[in-house]
Amino acid sequence: MTDVHCHVRWQEWDIEDWVAHFTALGVDRVWALAWESWWRRMRGEYELPTGDVEEAAAAHPELFVPFCCIDPREADFDARFDYYIEQGFRGFGEVKLRLRVDNDDVQRIYARCGEVGWPVLFHMDRCLQPGGQWYMANVERLEPMLRKYPDTVFIGHGPGWWAEISGDADEVKTAYPSGPVADGGRLPRLLHEYDNLYADISAGSGHNALSRDLDFGRQFVIDLQDRLLYGTDNHDTQHIELLRAMDLPTEVFEKVTERNARRLVP
Ligand SMILES: [Zn+2]
Repeated sequence: MTDVHCHVRWQEWDIEDWVAHFTALGVDRVWALAWESWWRRMRGEYELPTGDVEEAAAAHPELFVPFCCIDPREADFDARFDYYIEQGFRGFGEVKLRLRVDNDDVQRIYARCGEVGWPVLFHMDRCLQPGGQWYMANVERLEPMLRKYPDTVFIGHGPGWWAEISGDADEVKTAYPSGPVADGGRLPRLLHEYDNLYADISAGSGHNALSRDLDFGRQFVIDLQDRLLYGTDNHDTQHIELLRAMDLPTEVFEKVTERNARRLVP
């Protein structure tokens, strides 16, 4: 299996802890993601530096697939991007910036990733009340990007992304909506309409979206079996347990846990 969402120094764990964990689980490829943000750096808040990813991939090249993250507002964005190409990086993420998903600076990422064939994995959070925390908002602004950058693979993740599985997302102003999924969600529509869009099921947000209404969740996985990617973002096993409990056709399970990820990063 491939886990598409791991941070190598995160949740009190270091590189070797993750290696032991994934080996025990039977996960043999892991996308190692960074999280850099100029805004956080200026505020003295922690980041998940690309240098940690580089270290993990150098120590365990058979396991970790390195993804870089560079804040596109930095003057050395292009120079660092070129450096990571040379170093054998395979993708970009996670992009979790206090910027709109269609911001001009952020579009530098989409443009460059489209040129080199790297998927872009982003975290989206809606602004639920004035002064609230948000990232890469909102899904309405994503659609023009999917059209403008058809050669770029976009992978969505996070509470503001997964809330859109349901057609009542605008009325339900919570990060982790519960209960039945309403028809007409923007997320299923976009996934059906744009073949350069994927979804990463990691974290509490992805698990919640697929389990809040299990009948819907199982059918969603089957319908979108070519666009969903297994990931955890954590060291619990709730995602694989959920997929197993869905009793999916073997081909669907294999696509979500392995083949889709291998196609995006051969
Ligand atoms: Zn993450």
